[in-house]
Amino acid sequence: MKVNYYKFDLPFRYPFTISRGTKTHQPTLIVELEHFGIKGYGEAPAIKYYDITVEKMIENLESKKTFVEKFAFTEPERYWHYLHHLFPNNPFLVCALDIAAWDLYGKMKGKPLYKLWGLDISKNPMTDYTIGIDTIEKMVQKMKEKPWPIYKVKVGTENDIEMVKALRQNTDAILRVDANAGWTTEQALEKIPLLKELGVELVEQPLAKDNWEGMKILYEKSALPLFADESCALENEVEKCAGYFHGINIKLTKCSGITPARRMIKKARELTMQVMIGCMNETTIGTAAIAQLLPLLDHVDMDGPLLLAEDVATGITYGNGQIIYSDLPGLGIGFTR
Ligand code: MG
Repeated sequence: MKVNYYKFDLPFRYPFTISRGTKTHQPTLIVELEHFGIKGYGEAPAIKYYDITVEKMIENLESKKTFVEKFAFTEPERYWHYLHHLFPNNPFLVCALDIAAWDLYGKMKGKPLYKLWGLDISKNPMTDYTIGIDTIEKMVQKMKEKPWPIYKVKVGTENDIEMVKALRQNTDAILRVDANAGWTTEQALEKIPLLKELGVELVEQPLAKDNWEGMKILYEKSALPLFADESCALENEVEKCAGYFHGINIKLTKCSGITPARRMIKKARELTMQVMIGCMNETTIGTAAIAQLLPLLDHVDMDGPLLLAEDVATGITYGNGQIIYSDLPGLGIGFTR
């Protein structure tokens, strides 16, 4: 097997603001695994909050490149185990390699992954479109520019309720909110009932990721389902969230790829929790990986390519929130850079 990689710093359509700060560009690493002339692609965007840069991913990959390449590849699950032990402190890099391995595997088998897994895509959830934090006027304007059936609204400011109220006055679409760990327990207790009145369907990560005491209180009292994102990064954290959150928001990058994500979905279902997959502003490569898992999800947030002004691949398209597949094997993508 041969490994190759490409790094990009892709501009957003609009500067993207959440409760932790603003970004104008998204750095991302694309890896390419080549085996018997077939190429598979994977992606991991860098996220400051998790302290992993593209440079760190490249440095780690370069330091063990020969090991990555010498593995006798037959199927992705065994490869993931090998990579997980090779890079124990870099789930992002393992994610990029794992997605590439699945793309490669699907191409070797000549089928899209969801077909290989026997999944029925006819009842897939629709993806939301994210409205970042801005002035109320601009948030309403961004929403109006993108008519969509579901919006995810970033909150965690002084005027969250006014923001959502203004959006609600201008749309009948489903609204969900993501506080990105930006509220205190008291703020959450005050805001959640008001958001419920505004027809919000769910709340993502209301409190700081380690505030389990606060989450216990919210879980007992919340009028809306609460989803763990920052509190549920790794596979072994799913169980911890039961009794504190109603659902989890899996990100392929933080959990280290498709392989552990499939196990996390299974675990969450055993614990009767809802499942969502979110993106981290991935291009079409990372989101095409999410698309393969859609039939297993309650909700999905995979609008990365819609928020970015540039892409590096073709493949899935967005028909008013409904994902349309290319039907090519693997992830169904074509790398265009
Ligand atoms: Mg989130």
